[in-house]
Amino acid sequence: MTVQLDDVSVHFGRTCALEGLSLTVAAGETVALLGPSGSGKSTALKAVAGFVRPSIGRIRLAGQDVTDLPPAKRGIGVVVQQYALFPHLRVADNVAFGLRAARKPKAEVTRRVAEMLAMVGMTSYAKRFPRELSGGQQQRVAIARALAIQPKVLLLDEPLAALDAQLRADMLGELQKLRREVPDVAIIYVTHDQSEALALADRIAVMRDARLVDIAPAAQLYATPPSAFTASFLGGAN
Ligand code: ADP
Ligand code: MG
Repeated sequence: MTVQLDDVSVHFGRTCALEGLSLTVAAGETVALLGPSGSGKSTALKAVAGFVRPSIGRIRLAGQDVTDLPPAKRGIGVVVQQYALFPHLRVADNVAFGLRAARKPKAEVTRRVAEMLAMVGMTSYAKRFPRELSGGQQQRVAIARALAIQPKVLLLDEPLAALDAQLRADMLGELQKLRREVPDVAIIYVTHDQSEALALADRIAVMRDARLVDIAPAAQLYATPPSAFTASFLGGAN
């Protein structure tokens, strides 16, 4: 479903973390938010998820204003850096959480959890608790949990950052597969890694100092960077 940020600003006290962001992500589209640390990428994602409230502006999902809805009522799959697994629940129960909350039949929950754990290579860890896993393993379970509910909107904040090179390549492949298999999901993918943005995104939005600087199809952004900032950011080894 379509995600729309309409002139969204977020303030934390005197800090303006996001200033006047307007962005529409179509159903079936993946937009990467790319930019240096502190540029407001995570804040934009949290505003869509409902973890922070815009001081100005509205969030719309499929045309419906959800600005005042709590996160759980938005039907969004989220993997954010600070959104940890439930520590008191085993891996399988973490993945099952959203399905049970949606009152899915038991057999379906079992099947779906098994599928998701297999997808992220965590089947043999189903009975473990999060504290018994490495950071990368926890991140894989978080991805499985986000995808388990077959969300129409998927928000990913540096989801591969804690993974080693091989796993990162595997998970990138899984995300590309997901895009083909679930054609109407809208994905916002936050990263500071250009190669991930290029591999996944239809369009790349470049952020700087709480603002959107440029937005363009990935190939176009590289071929003809619209601004000096984007040219130097893409040219730099970040
Ligand atoms: P990015 O994800 O691009 O690294 P963030 O969205 O996390 O950037 O942060 C944007 C700005 O907002 C930064 O200056 C950051 O310090 C500030 N900020 C983010 N979250 C908070 C918070 N909860 N309280 C105060 N300042 C915050
Ligand atoms: Mg961030």
